[in-house]
Amino acid sequence: MLAVTRVLAPNPGVYTLEGTNTWVVGRDPSIVIDPGPDLPAHLADVAREAGRVGAVLVTHDHPDHAPGALPFAEMVGAPVYAYRLAGAEGLRSGQRVRVGALDLTAIHTPGHTSDHMAFFEPGSGALFTGDAVVGRGTTFIDPPDGNLVQYLRSLARMEELGPRTIYPGHGPVVVRAEDKIREYITHREERESQVLTALADGPRTIAEMVEVIYAAHPKDVYPLAARSVLAHLLKLADEGRAERTGKTDEGLWIAATPRTCQRCGRIVKGKARYCSSCSLAMLQAEG
Ligand SMILES: [Zn+2]
Ligand SMILES: [Zn+2]
Repeated sequence: MLAVTRVLAPNPGVYTLEGTNTWVVGRDPSIVIDPGPDLPAHLADVAREAGRVGAVLVTHDHPDHAPGALPFAEMVGAPVYAYRLAGAEGLRSGQRVRVGALDLTAIHTPGHTSDHMAFFEPGSGALFTGDAVVGRGTTFIDPPDGNLVQYLRSLARMEELGPRTIYPGHGPVVVRAEDKIREYITHREERESQVLTALADGPRTIAEMVEVIYAAHPKDVYPLAARSVLAHLLKLADEGRAERTGKTDEGLWIAATPRTCQRCGRIVKGKARYCSSCSLAMLQAEG
């Protein structure tokens, strides 16, 4: 049985739900995931709970997860590992962090941010998801550091791990991990079809689409919703299924038909005539 304890940081909010979950994994030595904001009283609580700490891990560099990491590590005399954090040791995807009997694998899961890492403990199926999957509601994808194409790939990667329990960066523990990930994928698919439906009747601005898609929500969420719709539009643009039109300041989007490679028929990105492998093949044939 993997011993996991939560220490809740006192930073509740729209993005953070009840606050950031700092996870203490194992005992003597322990691994601490996401010390959270640099709040001395919180870090002292974590230190008390964690005892001897072998490593500090950071899921991503957002202000509700990372700023406490270095001060905390200094306090307990442990190394910090992160994909992207000044002063921390760099982590690669697939890298294992071994501390005493603990053995966690870091999985690069970009999408919420480009540096996002999840941590997996194969023996128990515990997956520490940071903000890639949260305990309640959905993850916020804010372009350009947030990227929906990458995010969906990361969800698939996490599903492939066959996790049993999700320990999220915010909100409650999720005991049906795979159902939750499936639910996240379905939610994005539904949102995408709503965006495509909104574009079906002609050019639309993001604000117009938000009013239709989020009609049942209070207007307070519209600014966040607009970022999320933009994330969907950028994914559709990447796939050649939507494009920006008109003057830039109008911010109009239209539906588009994906272009296919004139050589092999596969879908190509943007306005290219040939897909990248055909382009390369033709270049090589020319010598
Ligand atoms: Zn975040
Ligand atoms: Zn967060």
